[in-house]
Amino acid sequence: MNIHEFQGKALLKKYGVAVPDGREVTSPEDAAAACREFGGVCVVKAQIHAGGRGKAGGVKVCKSPEEAQAFAQELLGKTLVTHQTGPEGRVVKRLLAEAASDIDREFYVGIVLERATSRINMMASSEGGMEIEEVAERSPEKILKVSIDPAVGLQPFQARQLAFGIGIPKASIGKAVKFMMALYKAYEDSDGSIAEINPLVLTKQGDVIALDAKIGFDSNALYRQKEILELRDLNEEDDKEVQASKYDLSYIALDGNIGCMVNGAGLAMATMDIIKHFGGEPANFLDVGGGATTEKVTEAFKIILSDANVKGVLVNIFGGIMKCDVIANGVVEAAKQVKLQHPLVVRLEGTNVEIGKKILETSGLNIESASSMSDAAERIVKAVNG
Ligand code: ADP
Ligand code: MG
Repeated sequence: MNIHEFQGKALLKKYGVAVPDGREVTSPEDAAAACREFGGVCVVKAQIHAGGRGKAGGVKVCKSPEEAQAFAQELLGKTLVTHQTGPEGRVVKRLLAEAASDIDREFYVGIVLERATSRINMMASSEGGMEIEEVAERSPEKILKVSIDPAVGLQPFQARQLAFGIGIPKASIGKAVKFMMALYKAYEDSDGSIAEINPLVLTKQGDVIALDAKIGFDSNALYRQKEILELRDLNEEDDKEVQASKYDLSYIALDGNIGCMVNGAGLAMATMDIIKHFGGEPANFLDVGGGATTEKVTEAFKIILSDANVKGVLVNIFGGIMKCDVIANGVVEAAKQVKLQHPLVVRLEGTNVEIGKKILETSGLNIESASSMSDAAERIVKAVNG
């Protein structure tokens, strides 16, 4: 789960990470008021769950309350297209106004989980303000990393190593170390999955401040992060994915036209692969989980069909704990409820598979029952591509 920059900065501030004075503003008049609070000059920033706002015109240093008001007026309701939003862009609904910093140099600091070592890495670079992926490609030597031992957490010597390594001047090393230690603590305490401070700036006064904050959280830990969960902004998430999460379905929207309903993440991946193998394009990843009840299957159908690109549906379910006849009943019931018009191919395997197939055949619905995974994929691709 991701949060907005202003929320991230508020969280970081609680842990002692230095951030500019700032607050969310809800109207152009409020932006002018905030600008006055911050001394007559402020930065107004579009709050969307995507980066690249600066280059796209979503961030502006405003030299007067009037300018802040005019810029806020222009931004609210505007569709901002950045290299991270995709061509459709994002409508700006929220704004941050904050004190303008006197920037001397920009740096990068990030935290991610490295799965290969099962450890959290802190990364830092002298190339602040640039896309870190770009830096990684062009000059990987400019990204420094330390691997954090979970038993003891980030150590001050590691933070010093990073701070010196990216060229923070001696007089500000102490502040940079305090910054990194606090950032790590915030990430660890709140079950972060990513934290990117880009840019981290050194001000002309020698302070070390987070000018941007992108923080994401591990969804599996949200049950114990009530305060973080309250920061969720459903406006920023795909409607279908929001709906799916309500029913505990793992759903990710994709660009293709074949809707997939599968149980088990591995089988779902394999199903997407085999659709591609036969020349089709999956419209989604969907894992209905182990206990695929009729209700879940129906909801999954509704979500798949709410995608206008979908031209056919492939159901690929292995009946282990759930028996195939129960699943078949669920599919038939769901297809009736949603008045399915598109071609539907079902491949069932496992316990009571023969009974399950019989149910599909005698349902009176236009359901093709497939004998194997490749048979199923070939049929649905043919049905959709003609
Ligand atoms: P994004 O990464 O989406 O482009 P940032 O928050 O990184 O947005 O802002 C883009 C640029 O705007 C920064 O690299 C920085 O140069 C400038 N900027 C952002 N916030 C401030 C601020 N409070 N004071 C001065 N400059 C700022
Ligand atoms: Mg940034």
